[in-house]
Amino acid sequence: MLAARMDDRLESGMSDAVADGASTAQGKSMEELVSLCKRRGFIYPASEIYGGLNGFWDYGPLGVQLKKNLADRWWRDMTLTPPTRDGEAVKIVGVDSSIIQNPRVWEASGHVGGFSDPMVDCTETKFRYRADHLICLGEKGDTSGQIYVHVEDDDESYAAARKKLDKYKKRSLGDDEIDTCPFVSLSAEERAIAVGPHAKAPGTLTEPRAFNLMFQTYVGATASEDDKAYLRPETAQGIFINFGNVVDTSRVRVPFGIAQIGKAFRNEVTPRNFIFRSREFEQMEMEFFCHADDAKQWLDYWVEQRKRWWMSVGLSEDNMIVRKHDDDELAHYSKNGAGTYDIEYRWPFTHPGFGELEGIAHRSNFDLSQHKEHSKKKLEYFDQERNERYLPDVIEPAAGLTRGVLALLCEAFTPDDSRASKVVMKFEPSLAPIKAAVYPLVNKDGMPEVAEKLVTELRRRFGHTGLIEFDAKQSIGKRYARMDEAGCPVCFTIDGDTMSDQTVTYRDRDTLAQDRIAIDQVPNWLGDKLGA
Ligand code: ATP
Repeated sequence: MLAARMDDRLESGMSDAVADGASTAQGKSMEELVSLCKRRGFIYPASEIYGGLNGFWDYGPLGVQLKKNLADRWWRDMTLTPPTRDGEAVKIVGVDSSIIQNPRVWEASGHVGGFSDPMVDCTETKFRYRADHLICLGEKGDTSGQIYVHVEDDDESYAAARKKLDKYKKRSLGDDEIDTCPFVSLSAEERAIAVGPHAKAPGTLTEPRAFNLMFQTYVGATASEDDKAYLRPETAQGIFINFGNVVDTSRVRVPFGIAQIGKAFRNEVTPRNFIFRSREFEQMEMEFFCHADDAKQWLDYWVEQRKRWWMSVGLSEDNMIVRKHDDDELAHYSKNGAGTYDIEYRWPFTHPGFGELEGIAHRSNFDLSQHKEHSKKKLEYFDQERNERYLPDVIEPAAGLTRGVLALLCEAFTPDDSRASKVVMKFEPSLAPIKAAVYPLVNKDGMPEVAEKLVTELRRRFGHTGLIEFDAKQSIGKRYARMDEAGCPVCFTIDGDTMSDQTVTYRDRDTLAQDRIAIDQVPNWLGDKLGA
C-alpha cells in the first residue's frame, strides 16, 4: 500500500494512478491500460484541468457506455430475468434510494460509530498511513537500535527502510538478520524510536486514531451540527430502510431480493490503483431476504450464481477465486452468520495474487433489527406458509460497478505487437461500448451514403446496446487500429465492390478474419455475434 498525502490534491491524478499501479502481469501493464483509457476516452482523472483530485475519476464516451452496459446487464440478470432455483425464477425487485438519508440511518447501521480505519500521521512529512498497513523492521536482537517502518506490500518503501537501517548500522544486513513486527503492536517507547516510511527523524509517527470514512455535508441553509448529514458509504442501507415499503406495496414474499445500483462515497485513506479504490464509486447491491433456516443454502446459491455471472460478462475463470473470510475478518453483522465470501479477481497489480471484486455476506438479520430498534417501527415479516412472524435473514451479494468496469478493462487488455495499435481490447461483444463500425473505404463514389444507410439501420436495431461508429476519414488501417483499442468487435467496410454486388467486407476484431457478406445480411449477422 502506498501512502496518501494529507493534501489530497494531485498535480496529475493520472500520473498518480500510473505510479501506484505500474506493474506488469501476464503482459498487462496498468500504466499502459491507464494511458489507453485516457487516449480512447474511457476514463479521465476528475478535474484534470485543475490538477486532478485524488480518488475521483470521470468517465468519457466509451467508459460511460461500458459502465452502463455492465450495470444494465446486472439489472437485467437480477431483476428482469433473474436466475432460477429448482426450476423457479427467484424474485427480485428494484429500488433507487436517496444518496443522502436521515443521519439516523447511519447511526443504526453502525457507520457513524464504527466505519473507520485506524490512521497514523507523520508529523515530519505530513503523510498519512493506515496503521494496520505499517510494518516495522530492525536488526534481530537489537532492542536499543532504531526501528524502520515501511508500508506493507510496497517494495519501494521496504527498500527505503532497509537502506536506512543499513546506513544506521553502517553495514549491509542480510535478510536473516532482520526482525519484523506490525507497527500497531509497538509500545509508546518503541514508537519514539521508529522512523516513518518517508521520514528522516525518529518518533514522528502519531498514535493510531480512528478516521471515519463517511463524507459529511449539511442539509439546509444554516449548516449547524443538527443539520449534519452523510453521503451514503454503501447502497445497502437504502434497501433495508425500504424493506417495509416494498413488502407493503408489492406482492413479494420471502424469499425475495431487493436490488439497487448507485453511487457510494468513502473518504478512503489510500485511494489507489486507478478506479479500483476511489472515493466516489458505484455499487450494484442486492439484499436477499430469507428465513434463517434457509440462509446457508441461499448463501451457497448466490456465491455460485455470482461467480458464473462474472464469467458471463467475460472474466475468465482462471482469473477468479472464491475466498471464504476467516473468522477474524468477519464484519460485525456477519459474526453469527454462515459467513462471508469474496469473489476475487487477479488484477495486474495483485498478480499473481487476487483482490476483492464482490463480497457475498450473510448479514443475519442485523440490519433490520438495528433499524427496527432505532426507528421503533415494526419491520417483522409475516410468513403465511410458516405461520410465523420474524425478521428475515439477509444474504448480500455486493459488487462494485466501477470496480467491475476495471475488471472488464483488465481482462480485455491484450497486447499484440503484430497489430498497428499494439493492443486490442477484447471485450465480450455484448458488453463492448462500440458494437460495430461502418467505414466507407474512401470518402466518395457514393460509399459514404451507403455506409450511412447501414449505420442508421444498425443504430435502430442495436443502438440501445451500444454505439455504432461511422468514420469516413483517415486510412482504413488507422480506423481499424482505433477500433482495436476501443474494443469494437467488428468493422464493416463499404468498397467499390459493394456498389456492384451489394456485399461488404467484415473484419473480426479477435481473429482478424476478413470476408464478404451481403449488406442486407449484416444486421442478423451482427445480432448473432452480439447475442442480441
Ligand atoms: P475493500 O475491502 O476493497 O475496501 P469492502 O469489503 O469495504 O471493500 P464492501 O463494503 O463489501 O467493500 O463493498 C462492496 C463492493 O463495493 C466491493 O466488493 C467493491 O467492489 C466495491 N467497493 C468498495 N469500496 C470501494 C472503493 N473505495 N472504490 C471502488 N469500489 C469499491
